[in-house]
Amino acid sequence: MTVTIKGIAASSGIAIAKAFRLVHPNLTVEKQTIADIDSEIQRLNVAIDKSQQELELIKDHANKELGEDKAAIFAAHLLVLSDPELIGPIKEKITNEKLNAEAALDETAQMFITMFEQMDNEYMQERAADIRDVTKRVLAHLLGVIIPNPSMVMEEVIIVSEDLTPSDTAQLNRQYVKGFTTDIGGRTSHSAIMARSMEIPAVVGTKTVTEEIQNGDLIIVDGLDGQIIINPTEQQLTAYQQKQSEYADKRAEWAKLKNEATSSSDGIHVELAANIGTPDDVQGVLENGGEGVGLYRTEFLYMGRDKLPTEEEQFAAYKKVLERMEGKPVVVRTLDIGGDKELPYLQLPKEMNPFLGFRAIRLCLEEQEMFRTQLRALLRASQFGNLKIMFPMIATLEEFRQAKSILLEEKEKLQSEAIPFADQIEIGMMVEIPSSALIADQFAKEVDFFSIGTNDLIQYTMAADRMNEQVSYLYQPYHPSILRLVNMVIEAAHKEGKWAGMCGEMAGDTTAIPILLGFGLDEFSMSASSILPARSLIKDLSKQEMSKHKENLLMLSTAEEVASYVKDKMLK
Ligand code: PEP
Ligand code: MG
Repeated sequence: MTVTIKGIAASSGIAIAKAFRLVHPNLTVEKQTIADIDSEIQRLNVAIDKSQQELELIKDHANKELGEDKAAIFAAHLLVLSDPELIGPIKEKITNEKLNAEAALDETAQMFITMFEQMDNEYMQERAADIRDVTKRVLAHLLGVIIPNPSMVMEEVIIVSEDLTPSDTAQLNRQYVKGFTTDIGGRTSHSAIMARSMEIPAVVGTKTVTEEIQNGDLIIVDGLDGQIIINPTEQQLTAYQQKQSEYADKRAEWAKLKNEATSSSDGIHVELAANIGTPDDVQGVLENGGEGVGLYRTEFLYMGRDKLPTEEEQFAAYKKVLERMEGKPVVVRTLDIGGDKELPYLQLPKEMNPFLGFRAIRLCLEEQEMFRTQLRALLRASQFGNLKIMFPMIATLEEFRQAKSILLEEKEKLQSEAIPFADQIEIGMMVEIPSSALIADQFAKEVDFFSIGTNDLIQYTMAADRMNEQVSYLYQPYHPSILRLVNMVIEAAHKEGKWAGMCGEMAGDTTAIPILLGFGLDEFSMSASSILPARSLIKDLSKQEMSKHKENLLMLSTAEEVASYVKDKMLK
């Protein structure tokens, strides 16, 4: 039966392929007393055998498709599975305590995990993670549920999941993933940002796709209008194939602007830069004619692994980005972990409100060794291009001053070790907390630049979790409060002769662009795939004309009024 589900358009384009459910099963264990010990041990043996066969397959596949590095983890899992020191105590528990296999496995594994995690030894802590993963797999077999294996996908698919975490995406073979759809999330959640950087269509925040879609269903992801069509009719299929090809034509038109500078119709240049998460994303920036990198989210270097990246690893990544950008500006943001981005190996305490918690610069100022390692790697890489550094989540002047003075200390250390770095490195900050937008005039005296992070600025100003689709109606980029804050930041920067950019998703929003151009924003940083449509739009707008609307816009009272004003008076 054909079903249509509405969601949030998170990445443009149309994708048509079969569904692959990446849904993590419920592995809750019920403790039971059993009568037949032999058959319970037999059940355990069968589940272990099946897990072993599965892991062998995944390992071989990962070896071929993803390289030995990624395959190593599965080899480690196989070792755990054949370790008598783990399996023996599980069987003993079944025998001595007459426990069902699920509970015996769970209790034994928990005991080892806790023991290893408490050891002050990195190697043992990694083993704890291995045991956790392996236990999940065996438990799934015992419970008769399926653990999805995204690394095994070998045909074109659309990923259907509750939410796509960074570790899920790290396992995906990008070649085969044609689109995403998720139950939760909004335009600025990790899965949406990921889809845009992979340049594949995505619809998020649908609430029900994982309920409605089965593995193998034919799915259309309409990332233009935010719709999912399950098992489309012949007619719908033809209509969407048509829409897909029209969109491809439009992209071909935009592509002609690739090598042009971005100028408004009255000849004013603004910079269109891109947001990236990994050095590999630079290719997309260049292919889409990016004039720089306005936000390099370095946290991805720290994710999907089991320990902190070394200075050398980081240096190599930053150098690669700077070199590939060939002297174009690259704004690197220091580690912004926390919120929706976790680092299990840091073992930070669970928080009631992670978005308001111990994250980003707050964590870095506390964990200074980690912060200093990153800064050293950045400074050393600076001589290979045009590096600018910015700090995330700055709420107070003291935080900015402290972060900057740590950076200056690391500079001095490098100098005394005769390690070279660039003479001129601009140091700026993200403005993504209302407190810093409100005193932007004070910050402007001390920073070299601002980059407005509207993804967070909107969530904190409106007190609406950016991940929560229940309150997505409050997530309003055009809300007059946001416009006023953005304007304050730009004016404060200009008053001190500094530049102001924006790296939140609002910078690539076609309704926001005329407003921001009129407010005098100097740099717009967005998903690479939004650059050419933005360039095409700006080419047709007069900056001077747009700026005449500023006072009117700032006096409007609702987001709706702002959107209509832009449509009727600015884009006419
Ligand atoms: C922002 O908050 O606008 C931003 C660009 O950072 P992130 O989306 O990584 O929080
Ligand atoms: Mg942010």
